[in-house]
Amino acid sequence: LATMLRVSRTTAINAYRQLERQELISTKVGSGTYVSNVTLPAAPNPCVPWPQLFVPSPNTQLPSIIRELMASAATDDIISLAAGMPDPSLYPLKNFHRLLVQQFSQLNNSDLGHIPTEGYTPLRRALASMLVNKGWAVKPENTMIVTGSQQGLYLITKIFLEPGDYVVVESPTYLGAIQLFNAANARLLSLPAAGRLPLDLLQDYLIRYRPKLLYIMPTFQNPNGRVIPLEERRALLNLAAKHRLVIIEDDPYGELYYSQQPPPSLKALDHYGGVIALGTFSKIIFPGLRTGWLVAPETVINRFALEKQYIDLHTGNISQKLLYDYLSEGLLDSHLTFIRAEYKKRRDVAANALKRYCSPHLDFTLPEGGFYFWCTLSRGILARQLLHEATKVGVSFVPGEAFYSDTSGSSEFRLCFVTHHADQLVEGIKRLSKALQVLANN
Ligand code: PMP
Repeated sequence: LATMLRVSRTTAINAYRQLERQELISTKVGSGTYVSNVTLPAAPNPCVPWPQLFVPSPNTQLPSIIRELMASAATDDIISLAAGMPDPSLYPLKNFHRLLVQQFSQLNNSDLGHIPTEGYTPLRRALASMLVNKGWAVKPENTMIVTGSQQGLYLITKIFLEPGDYVVVESPTYLGAIQLFNAANARLLSLPAAGRLPLDLLQDYLIRYRPKLLYIMPTFQNPNGRVIPLEERRALLNLAAKHRLVIIEDDPYGELYYSQQPPPSLKALDHYGGVIALGTFSKIIFPGLRTGWLVAPETVINRFALEKQYIDLHTGNISQKLLYDYLSEGLLDSHLTFIRAEYKKRRDVAANALKRYCSPHLDFTLPEGGFYFWCTLSRGILARQLLHEATKVGVSFVPGEAFYSDTSGSSEFRLCFVTHHADQLVEGIKRLSKALQVLANN
């Protein structure tokens, strides 16, 4: 034990004695030391009525039917095209392994204390310079590192929204945002996310309801993949500036383009200082790193920091330092080139398979980037029914209703094409076509 743990012999002997005193091990002279058969004390009968102590929670859950179906879809033999997850086999594991070993071998005690709530300073600087290279007017003080962009969304909700406030959201939009805004008891106004940006409708909302925020994903929207063209981005910003509307621009997928680069982000074009940008390394490196970021005016960052202190004081040092090392070695660009090429292949393989096997029953548009196909079912087939059949034959997806703040989306669904390699994707789509056949023949 002393050699394995690199501790002195005396420390190891003391540790054994302590374990023996606690009856966790027993020693037989001439035979060896054995782990005792520990019997855990029986759990006391609960006499505290836990659920009654919870504060009332608003109804923010997915419709229960969808939750049930998703739970049944999460078994091993199912090809899940549901979660928006990058392919784990493409994570840059080798480099992260090397950086982690390097980090631990050079670690000082002082590296393991608390750091500023806004984030690890060198990482904030690196992030700011990365964004400046993309044409953003941003200083490190305008940035904040958060525990995933989901936490960024939480902070936004917490500091801006009071019950009854209006928020404009796209329709469909990111499920996690709908749930948060609902939890804050905000009132949601829907802006259709297909076709041209409906600025007349937005203007109408601005005049009639004075919404606090517009939450929007202009690039490779989740779930429908739409990209807002440059001219419409400018027109949106002009309208927002006129009404002093705060825009929350969420952009986890912008770097994942499969043909040409998308137009500059709203934040890069922001001429009135009203855009708060939200980004993440979850989709382009790996989600377990839990490193997202916010860009906002310094006053707003200060307020975010105050709120974040209540939650976790700061995002983990080790993740932040690892990410900083990864970015400083210039490794992100080549990884992006690699995953763009791989995901593009998968998108094309999946699109061909969808056309070949599912064609008369569903329609989809080829996304120019991001993770998802947004499919529309024909002939009155409901996505829920399809999911029910699909899980029986071993494939799953997210039904469209999850992405709407109202009851729309019953004949739509989202398929993620990046998590599995090409063969499995095709197999998943073949299974989907079987499920479609069952419903079409009914
Ligand atoms: N925003 C959008 C649009 C997303 O799709 C996701 C992840 N599904 C998030 C935010 C949250 O990502 P994370 O917390 O992993 O950064």
